[in-house]
Amino acid sequence: MVLPRSPLDKMKAQLQVMKFGGTSVGDAACIARTAQIIAKAARSRPCIAVVSAMSGVTNRLIDAAKRAAEGDTEAGAAIVAALRTQHDSALASLVSNDDARKAVREKMDDVLAEGRRLCDGTALLRELTPRTLDAISSLGERLSAPLVAAAVSELGVPSESVEATELIVTDAYHGGAEPLMDLTRAKSEARLRPLLAKEITPLVTGFIGASEDGKLTTLGRGGSDYSATILGAAMDAAEVIIWTDVDGVLTADPRLVPDAQTIPEISYREAAELAYFGAKVLHPKTLNPVVQAAIPVWIRNSFAPERPGTKITPHGRSIGGGVKALTAIRDVALISVGGPGIVGVPDVVGRTFSTTAELRANVLLISQSSSQNDICFIVSSADAAKTVEALRKEFAHDLAHHKVEHITVDPNIAIVAVVGENMRGTPGIAGKTFNALGRENVNLIAIAQGSSESNISFVVEEKAVKSALLTTHREFGLHNPAS
Ligand code: ASP
Ligand code: MG
Repeated sequence: MVLPRSPLDKMKAQLQVMKFGGTSVGDAACIARTAQIIAKAARSRPCIAVVSAMSGVTNRLIDAAKRAAEGDTEAGAAIVAALRTQHDSALASLVSNDDARKAVREKMDDVLAEGRRLCDGTALLRELTPRTLDAISSLGERLSAPLVAAAVSELGVPSESVEATELIVTDAYHGGAEPLMDLTRAKSEARLRPLLAKEITPLVTGFIGASEDGKLTTLGRGGSDYSATILGAAMDAAEVIIWTDVDGVLTADPRLVPDAQTIPEISYREAAELAYFGAKVLHPKTLNPVVQAAIPVWIRNSFAPERPGTKITPHGRSIGGGVKALTAIRDVALISVGGPGIVGVPDVVGRTFSTTAELRANVLLISQSSSQNDICFIVSSADAAKTVEALRKEFAHDLAHHKVEHITVDPNIAIVAVVGENMRGTPGIAGKTFNALGRENVNLIAIAQGSSESNISFVVEEKAVKSALLTTHREFGLHNPAS
C-alpha cells in the first residue's frame, strides 16, 4: 500500500534553497531584482534564501580591519559611516513602509555599533586575531540579509532575516571553517522549519557560522555558495540555486574565448574540477555537502532570470566527445627541482612535498619525467617565493654537493585544463589536444592527467594561454552547442 505523503514530506520535497552573490545584491536595483526572484519562487513553494554582502563590502571590511591593526584609530569610524550611508540609501529606495524601515535600521545600527567596537578595539590593541577578523568580515552579510528580507516582505511575501550563527555549526578554524553537519541539521531544522510552516521565507546570511561554543566563524572567501549547499543538505532541499552574474558554467572564460557557450548540464565531478581549476563561478567546496543526497545545484543569472542556466547533477549529461569545458589558471608559478644527480638523492619526491605541505602551499599540478631528472610542480604565485626558499634550505646539502643541480621558478606560465567526466574511456583526447596545440605552435612545458581521467592539464607560457584555449575549444567543437 502506498501511504499518502504527509504535508511535511511534501514541504521537504519541494524546498528550494537559493543563494544570491554580492553582485546580485550590489545596489538597490539589484536587490529589487533579487527580491522579485525570491518572491516569485516563494509564492509557489517553500524557499530559503541565502545572501552575500553587497559587492565589495567584505573587501572593504577586511581592509579596515587591517588598517585598524596597524593602529589606524579612524578606520572603524570611516568604514561604519560608509556602510551606513550605502545600506541606508538602498533601504530608502527599497522599503516604503515606515515601521519596516525602522526595524531594519535598528538591526543595522546594532551590527554597525558592533563593527565600530571591533575595529576600535583592534586599533587599540594593534592586534587582529583570526577570530576578530572573522567577526569584522561577517558584518556585510549581517547588514545585507535584513535589507533583502525587508525588500522581499515589501512585495507581499513575508520574509525574516536569520543569522547563520544560529544555524550552521562549524569547527573552530577561523577564516575557513568546516561545517559539523549533524549539529547543523538539528539547529537549522529547529530554527527554519517553523518559519517555513508559517510561510515565512528565511533570509539567511551567507559566509558565516558559529563554532560549538558559539564563536562566529567564516567559511572562507566566497563562502556563501557553500552556506547554501550546507543548508540545502541540512534541510533536505529538493534543489539549490546559485543566482549569480553569469549565465551558468561556461565552456571557457568568455573574455578569452568569445564563442564560449553555457553548458546545460554538468556532473558534480566536472563542476568541482572546474571550480578547483579556477573557473570562478563556484566556491570549490560548494558541492561537498550535496553529493551524498544527490541534490541538484543550479547556476543561474540573476540579471537574466529567463535563461535556463546550468544544472549540476550527480552524473551530468554526456555529450559527444567527452570534453565539457576548458579552464585556465594564471596566477601560478612552475617550480622545478632537478639535475642528473637527483636519481641518487634519497626521497627527493617525499622531501619536496613534505616541504610544500609544511608551508601549506597548494600544489596544483605535479609532473615528473621518467628519467627522474626533474620534478616540476605548480603552486599559486603567492606561494612561489617561500616555497623555493624552503626547498633551497631542505636541499642545501644536496645542492652543495651538486646532487641537486637546480631549484628554479618560472612565474610566466599558466595551466590549461581540459575537463570532462566522459573523457574516461574516450581514447584520443590527449592526442587531439596536443595536435591542435602543435598546429598553433603552442609550446607544452608539462603535462598531467589525473587518474580520475576527468581532467588533462598542461602547462604553457602565460602569453600562449589565449591561443591554447581558442584552438582547443574549436578542436572539441565546444563553440557548437548541438555537437
Ligand atoms: N561576502 C563574502 C566574500 O566576499 C562571501 C561571499 O561573497 O560569498 O568573500
Ligand atoms: Mg561571491
